[in-house]
Amino acid sequence: MPRASEVTGELISELAERVGGRLSQSPSDLEGHSRDESHHEARAPWAVVRCQSVEDVQAVLEVCRRHLSPVIPFGAGTGLEGGAIPTRGGVSLDLSGMNRVLRVGQEDLDVTVEAGVTLSQLNSELGPLGLFFPVDPGSDPTLGGMVATRASGTMAVRYGTMASNVLGLKVVLASGEVVTTGGRARKSSAGYDLTHLFTGSEGTLGVVVEVTLRVQPLPETVAAAVCPMPDLRSAVTAVIEVIQLGIPVARIELLDEVMVDAINRYQGTDSPVTPTLLLEFHGAKGAVAEQVREVAQVVGARGGRLEEQATPEERSRLWERRHHALYAAKALRPHARTWSTDVCVPISRLADCLLETKAELERSRVLAPIVGHVGDGNFHLSFVLEEGEVEQLKEADELHSRMVERALRMGGTCTGEHGVGIGKAPFLLHEHPTGVGLMRQLKATLDPLGILNPGKVLVVEE
Ligand SMILES: Cc1cc2nc3c(=O)[nH]c(=O)nc-3n(C[C@H](O)[C@H](O)[C@H](O)COP(=O)(O)OP(=O)(O)OC[C@H]3O[C@@H](n4cnc5c(N)ncnc54)[C@H](O)[C@@H]3O)c2cc1C
Repeated sequence: MPRASEVTGELISELAERVGGRLSQSPSDLEGHSRDESHHEARAPWAVVRCQSVEDVQAVLEVCRRHLSPVIPFGAGTGLEGGAIPTRGGVSLDLSGMNRVLRVGQEDLDVTVEAGVTLSQLNSELGPLGLFFPVDPGSDPTLGGMVATRASGTMAVRYGTMASNVLGLKVVLASGEVVTTGGRARKSSAGYDLTHLFTGSEGTLGVVVEVTLRVQPLPETVAAAVCPMPDLRSAVTAVIEVIQLGIPVARIELLDEVMVDAINRYQGTDSPVTPTLLLEFHGAKGAVAEQVREVAQVVGARGGRLEEQATPEERSRLWERRHHALYAAKALRPHARTWSTDVCVPISRLADCLLETKAELERSRVLAPIVGHVGDGNFHLSFVLEEGEVEQLKEADELHSRMVERALRMGGTCTGEHGVGIGKAPFLLHEHPTGVGLMRQLKATLDPLGILNPGKVLVVEE
């Protein structure tokens, strides 16, 4: 594929001609689009375009094709694998201004939104209608970004990931052509599944401008519980049993004792410093009570106890604590940065994968609290790295590689939800030895000039 050119005065002046004041080269805009929430090195784009319409997206692509300039779609910048970092310079295509909820289908339980609508914005529009969108990463990303990373989060165990909640997309290809995929029907056998080709493509195959999603009715009853467990093995075993028994929990999250301690320090709480499960239950009143009873039995049999969080305030404090876990980890060391990485394994291998990883961590000098959407077999390490500590980074890097290799050996994946971005790219060939060649061909077909988010997902394209 051709290499992208360097920034030129013509590129900038042609862009300015096409998109006017929506083009910016202000230091704060360049800095704000140089990084995401990952540990990867920041690099400023040459310019930022704050798109307001499909025509803006097409105009940027048209100019950038002629100049062989990279185009890097940017949602809210909450990604954890460096996907939105302009590693080769280029134009950061900010979609956050395309933020209209276009349609709410109350009868069909679906919505169509522009790509820049954020998760919190969508849920605050849906709430008064008795609906919600259940994919909950705990950050506040755009729906376009969530499609692009095939995001999931705490409620995937019950409601599925973005992959199971996206019905259709509108995508602008590198050529400028607009393609509509999928539709509003709940199922379809019509042709290749283009919706799921773009879902998880991390801005490398097209720019998502519109998303049609399934939504859910707000549950009649919600209950939540905290379960302090005697040790990590009993916590993970209890999770596996809950899933294998088919108890339809809405959330089942794990915090190891290091993360509980971090949250206590960060939030001023005094939870017992022991591996802990956080749960939520959705459904009719009787069904929820039954689920709570069943989980209490499982947890009790493993030496833990279930403490119900009775009020809505207690519940929201509980999930706020969980959602701030990454920042709590960061606060463990002064001037630290975090490197949050995830793997996912079949549920039957979760205990082996997690306990082996934990044992290795304990033998190392690296600090890395563990959290997990464990009902899916997915867990995260948040390495807490001190600035300038080269040895820490090297050791974290080795632990990370071994964790991924372990997950792959156990039939898992190098990333359950954060995406490949920069950090997982070296592992893709290992995970999909026969698939990467086809991925390369798809990339070359859809983006023959290699302008869309180059250097991400497929390092082999260089
Ligand atoms: C505290 C915290 C907790 C998190 N927890 C979770 C979690 O539990 N589960 C989870 O899945 N993620 C989690 N994340 C990661 C993050 O929120 C997701 O990856 C999210 O989906 C990124 O969306 P964004 O809008 O911020 O995208 P960005 O970070 O802006 O971009 C991410 C990638 O998508 C591409 N992209 C963005 N918009 C578009 C578009 N419209 N068209 C094409 N490509 C596009 C970018 O080029 C980039 O490759 C967490 C992040 C933080 C900070």
